Amino acid sequence: MKSLSDIPKLDGVRVLVRSSLNVPVADGKVVNTFRLRGALPTITYLREKRARVILISHISGKGAESLAPMWEAMKEFIPDIQFCPDIIGDQARNAVSALQAGEVLILENLRQNPGEEGNDEVFAKELASLGEVFVQDTFDVCHRKHAGVVGIPKFLPSYAGLLVEKEVQELAGALHPQFPSLAIISGAKFSTKEPVIKKLLASYDKVFVGGALANDFIKEAGNPVGASLVSGTSGEEIRELLHNKKVVIPVDAIVAPKGAERNAGRATKLSDVKENEAILDIGPETSTLLADIVKDSKSVLWNGPLGNYENGFTDGTENLAKAIVASGAHSVMGGGDSIAVVENLGLADKFSFISTGGGAMLDFLAEGTLPGIEALK
Ligand code: ADP
Ligand code: MG
Repeated sequence: MKSLSDIPKLDGVRVLVRSSLNVPVADGKVVNTFRLRGALPTITYLREKRARVILISHISGKGAESLAPMWEAMKEFIPDIQFCPDIIGDQARNAVSALQAGEVLILENLRQNPGEEGNDEVFAKELASLGEVFVQDTFDVCHRKHAGVVGIPKFLPSYAGLLVEKEVQELAGALHPQFPSLAIISGAKFSTKEPVIKKLLASYDKVFVGGALANDFIKEAGNPVGASLVSGTSGEEIRELLHNKKVVIPVDAIVAPKGAERNAGRATKLSDVKENEAILDIGPETSTLLADIVKDSKSVLWNGPLGNYENGFTDGTENLAKAIVASGAHSVMGGGDSIAVVENLGLADKFSFISTGGGAMLDFLAEGTLPGIEALK
């Protein structure tokens, strides 16, 4: 994978950048500009070398959303930044032609064109023809085989932006942890997380499974799980993982009738979950056990909240976040929900690295690479 510093010439060159402008908008305004700031280092690098910088991005949503609010917000950092409400039409081409060295232009939401998610080769070629060089700077789409991810690099010399480069370095590093190492894989989406658990068992000393993912294990170990969320994964697969000595599962739980508020919860040992109760967080004994392992670890990798935090079952997750920060271990974490918890606690900048990846992070950990990364090679 080549980096920005490998681009032979930038002065006056049209550089098409897949930039991370996909940030939440409410009432037509960007909610906070924190994440837009992450896109700036690559843009600044290219501007300082007098490239003509064309930013393309998607917005996760229904497809019709506009990048106009992101343009408004980006003016705070680049006052003369331009916007064109078109992607590959004449209007976009004219705006690109008029762009001067050192200037920056944002084109419209890629997903307004069905060719983006459909990985249409003609659309990819049209996009590519806007630039002379392509820079991929959005890690969280690199697991998608979309036109603006794997299509454009077929037609242009392609490079990793600073964000993508850092993600690949850190996550590749997380696949080779320092001894003793602990991975915590938690949350809810068993099917996406099971391959990660399997992969990490090869290189980690311990893999703690928590959150709703753990309910399958708790059940398979012969405990009642009442009304808990379970995935329905085959018992055999779970049994195999359960027999692995590196796998650690909760020893107690916070349970409550489904849909209850946090103050309705009670701590219990696993053998004592009632039929109408759901396991909604790890219990205090598990929290202590986990904190002890964290304290002795040199590398910690974490994805997924340990409980149903949106409904107030936050203790397990918050205790874990604090334990990781206090441990001084090299700490890598990610996952939309997990990041939300850590940001709420004000601990985000205490982690060694927070991945912007979500699904892309999980796929990278499971596979060691991603389609969008391979496309840059
Ligand atoms: P991330 O976005 O960090 O990767 P996931 O999306 O996999 O995490 O999982 C987050 C979801 O898991 C949250 O909605 C949370 O409420 C849920 N969750 C975690 N533990 C439990 C549990 N014991 N019961 C029900 N839901 C849970
Ligand atoms: Mg999530």
